[in-house]
Amino acid sequence: MASMLEGSGLGLLKGMAMTFRHLFRRRITTQYPEQKLTLSKRFRGYTLVWDKERCTGCATCAKSCPQGNIEIVTSKGTENDYVVEKFQLDSGRCIFCGLCVESCPYDALFLGMEYERSSYRRGDLVLSRDKLLFTPDKQRSAYARPKLEPGLPRQTLLIEGDTGSKKR
Ligand code: SF4
Ligand code: SF4
Repeated sequence: MASMLEGSGLGLLKGMAMTFRHLFRRRITTQYPEQKLTLSKRFRGYTLVWDKERCTGCATCAKSCPQGNIEIVTSKGTENDYVVEKFQLDSGRCIFCGLCVESCPYDALFLGMEYERSSYRRGDLVLSRDKLLFTPDKQRSAYARPKLEPGLPRQTLLIEGDTGSKKR
């Protein structure tokens, strides 16, 4: 009985010593949403970014999508080309596999870096061409696009204690 009490007393002391040690350790968690980490350059965000100028309307991306998620409508252009009338995808059904991005032969499609979004309506998750359109304020992921890597900020690693990034 005495040795049992000794054992549990020792365990308690060890537990307290461990708690005490952790009190003085550098914190490695972030205070989200006030603090945000910089994500991996190849992050697969919840959206895609479409470069209208590079897109030929070939529909390779739509054919590659395992979810049948990309809808493209084209019309014949004046110079033996296609005009993309509609480019739309349902991000609510997207599994962000990146196959559409990998398959695009003209580097016209990218995964985005966004990860925050909520919606009351299922229909709001359908992204029309205007929402997908590449604009300078949209950050594109370097996933399957290594040329973009040098222009993207370095990923924040918790282990380095660098959690100061407010905005990605
Ligand atoms: S990321 Fe995958 S699921 Fe989403 S649209 Fe592209 S191919 Fe389809
Ligand atoms: S594969 Fe690329 S070029 Fe072809 S329709 Fe899709 S985004 Fe446009």
